[in-house]
Amino acid sequence: MNVLVINAGSSSLKYQLLNVETREVYAKGNCERIGIDGSFIGHEEMGGEKHRTVVELPNHKVAAEHVLDILTDLDVPIDGIGHRVVQGGWLITESVPVTEESIGWVREVAPLAPLHNYGEADVIEYCLQRMPDVMGVIVPDTAFHSMIPERAWRYALPRDVVDKLKIRKYGAHGTSHRYIWRASNEFLKGDIHKLVSCHLGSGASLCAIQDGRDMDTTMGLTPLDGLIMGTRCGSIDPATVCYLQREGGYTVDEVDTMMNKQSGMLALSGLSSDSRDIEQAADDGDENCQLALDMFAYRTAQLVMEMCQALEGIDTLAFSAGIGENSATMRAKIAEKLAWMGLAIDPEKNAVRSDDVRDISAPDSKIRVLVVPTDEEYMIALDVKQILGK
Ligand code: AMP
Repeated sequence: MNVLVINAGSSSLKYQLLNVETREVYAKGNCERIGIDGSFIGHEEMGGEKHRTVVELPNHKVAAEHVLDILTDLDVPIDGIGHRVVQGGWLITESVPVTEESIGWVREVAPLAPLHNYGEADVIEYCLQRMPDVMGVIVPDTAFHSMIPERAWRYALPRDVVDKLKIRKYGAHGTSHRYIWRASNEFLKGDIHKLVSCHLGSGASLCAIQDGRDMDTTMGLTPLDGLIMGTRCGSIDPATVCYLQREGGYTVDEVDTMMNKQSGMLALSGLSSDSRDIEQAADDGDENCQLALDMFAYRTAQLVMEMCQALEGIDTLAFSAGIGENSATMRAKIAEKLAWMGLAIDPEKNAVRSDDVRDISAPDSKIRVLVVPTDEEYMIALDVKQILGK
């Protein structure tokens, strides 16, 4: 079965056409700078070269139109379409078929993720109109977290306010964490019960998973909470928001931009949000970059412990996403901070580069440590297959 996976971001639209059984990727690409000057589409076909076409992309619908045109020329039948949706909110707590009604739900919960959900709803609607016979499936990134126990998702705010505004921990990266559980479980042949999944990319979150059930996660109402990220501050005293406005004179939007786009590793390093640049500068003696890396590792280790409490234990820790998969330095730093609990990685195994799931634990480690390349597209395609099968 061939599935087209569409992942519409705030100003980008990634796509991948793959076969669910063989995991063969026929084509993939990315529409970049949607709604901004200088937009283009990068497209790649299996065994072929990457092409970059400069094209005007005023909105997500036009981007989707171009993607479907390109893929129609490919002559690979599309059996289903999986749409990644950032926020399913209180209405979409599992993957669901695309209908007029479910598209309405994506729009209804959009105030929780306005930069993403509106564009995503437009793309889903366009695909439904253009390919009415091909079933679409909405796969919310928040769905996996909807099974978190109430003690973990509820905020200690007045009940009437929380109920009215639907405030709770929704989390994010759920599809990635679900995949990381699946791949770890497969790799360990079922010998896994309590997993702390570490999705460490430019956005970063942890997830506590017990026998496939999500028990807690570090992102909250929005993806700003939890770990220090590329440009996001992660958890800080919530009163800082009021203080910035009252004493600093910043507007709501300015605080929002500051915390989401101007903070995190970018602010700490004073150099870049990209951890490759930061690691390089730290090696060259830049003290701000050294501190940024130390803080990232410290905060991650601290929140790993929070996730361990949700599980009341841990048998496996998995590193994933851009930093988790590629940075042996950061994996070693985090492991060092967790050494007191008996976690140890093998430096030689840690240095190996590979696209496969691998065990990097030291022989005497009390906790298994894996590196698991995430594959959200495949997870989404699996959901499409399952729902089509019904
Ligand atoms: P993602 O959001 O999962 O694509 O991850 C992006 C992040 O991964 C960026 O901060 C990159 O700097 C980081 N990253 C990718 N490759 C490496 C690497 N070899 N070493 C350190 N960080 C990396």
